[in-house]
Amino acid sequence: MSVTKSCSVVLTAILVCAMLTGSQTPSVQEGRSECPILVEHAREIEEYKPIARKIIDFFLSGDMRGRTYKNLNNFVDSYGPRMLGSSGLRRAVTHVYRGLTRQNFSNVRMEPVNIPVWVRGTESATLLRPRLQRLSMVGLGDSVGTPDGPIRAETIVVRSFKELEALGDKASGKIVVFNQEFISYDDSVSYRLNGAIAAAKAGGVAALIRSVTNHSLLTPHTGLMYYQKGVPKIPGACLATEHADLLHRLYRRGKKLVIQLQMGAHTIQNKTSNNVVADLPGASLSEKVVLISAHIDSWDIGQGAVDDGGGLMIAWGALVGLKRLGLRPRRTLRVAMFTGEEFGTLGSNQYYRDHAAELRDFVFALESDEGVFSPRGLGFTGSERAQCILRHVLQLMTPLNATVLEVPMLGGPDLDVLVAQGVPSACLLTRNQQYFTVHHTSADSIAVLDTAELDQAAAFWAVLAFVLGDLSFEVPRDITTRVEPGMSRL
Ligand SMILES: [Zn+2]
Repeated sequence: MSVTKSCSVVLTAILVCAMLTGSQTPSVQEGRSECPILVEHAREIEEYKPIARKIIDFFLSGDMRGRTYKNLNNFVDSYGPRMLGSSGLRRAVTHVYRGLTRQNFSNVRMEPVNIPVWVRGTESATLLRPRLQRLSMVGLGDSVGTPDGPIRAETIVVRSFKELEALGDKASGKIVVFNQEFISYDDSVSYRLNGAIAAAKAGGVAALIRSVTNHSLLTPHTGLMYYQKGVPKIPGACLATEHADLLHRLYRRGKKLVIQLQMGAHTIQNKTSNNVVADLPGASLSEKVVLISAHIDSWDIGQGAVDDGGGLMIAWGALVGLKRLGLRPRRTLRVAMFTGEEFGTLGSNQYYRDHAAELRDFVFALESDEGVFSPRGLGFTGSERAQCILRHVLQLMTPLNATVLEVPMLGGPDLDVLVAQGVPSACLLTRNQQYFTVHHTSADSIAVLDTAELDQAAAFWAVLAFVLGDLSFEVPRDITTRVEPGMSRL
């Protein structure tokens, strides 16, 4: 039977659809009363229960127990930050490549990616008036520096883009501080991405942006920022939230603020980095691919254990665990450790360009890039039928208490190209709400992570990859999916 037939079509042929009600799956959206899936498909998924249990036990209490944390700890301690263009990243890429080769995975390769290298240099921001105060700041990725010497300028503080616009030309020649409200990462990150553009349009000479987080211990957050063609490029940096608030309070009291900003940031074009890719070949449908992705690069100010060392290690660990159990699904499981994610998904974009003709055989894609904490389920983008199949597959994760399906997927920037082509795509959802507290800061370290939670997440990934790679039917593509540019979290 064609897997592309809808359940309603099948119903007209007097076949019965299995119904999964909202009460059985807490993740089912309000108002949904049913989840159509062919009976034989539901039954087939259920038959994976013993094997799922075996995989989970292998990671939680068998030979894989503790390995993911240990490997991650060794990785981040050995190579440090893996900033694009750094020796740390080059050595980390080699480490992953050699490890996958030594473990006898197939088609292990380092694929070149053309990259610009952004160099931070030294940087500082100092409040000179109304009193001297060194400000807790960090420059933003892709920012220009202050090559002609420090910028010393009067400073204004605004709460929003709208407030800046209302000031007319009052921002001209000044440093603009955005002390925007933190609503959520997705709502507030626009200030980091576009703050320098807005400030430059208003005549500002630099933009200092409140770090995009709801919690801070004087830990400013870096991240990518944008420029716009035709708008002057001015330096952009983030302030720790405490200091953004301090400046705002002083400004509201009518004090004249003067800040001195110095940034050694500059960019070197046409360098090379590498994606690392490897396969566990499918037993019978080896041309079909389930992709398990993470990114290997990180920012320069932390260890990158959370963003995204953990994601890399659970992808790798999932394949190692399956291999050691002798489990080889019908389809190929491919791990892709992409480079340059932090500078705009450079590695994955290059990969999808280089392998455009093969993407039609990609049947499912997974990404973990929001920290590896206790798993609770999946964020997913795909058709209604695909969602239904996933809800059934997630029932296999009951021993991990990780059966939630949230639609759409929000945290899979390296999968945007596949999502746009309708490939069913999912990201790991976890119980930790603190990801956006530490990511892109000096606090992104192994200390934030827990060995048992990494085991759970690796087990979750292994079960999911195996089942999606092995089912007799494919999760259908969604030909209606559209991804808005810039929708993903960077
Ligand atoms: Zn990341």
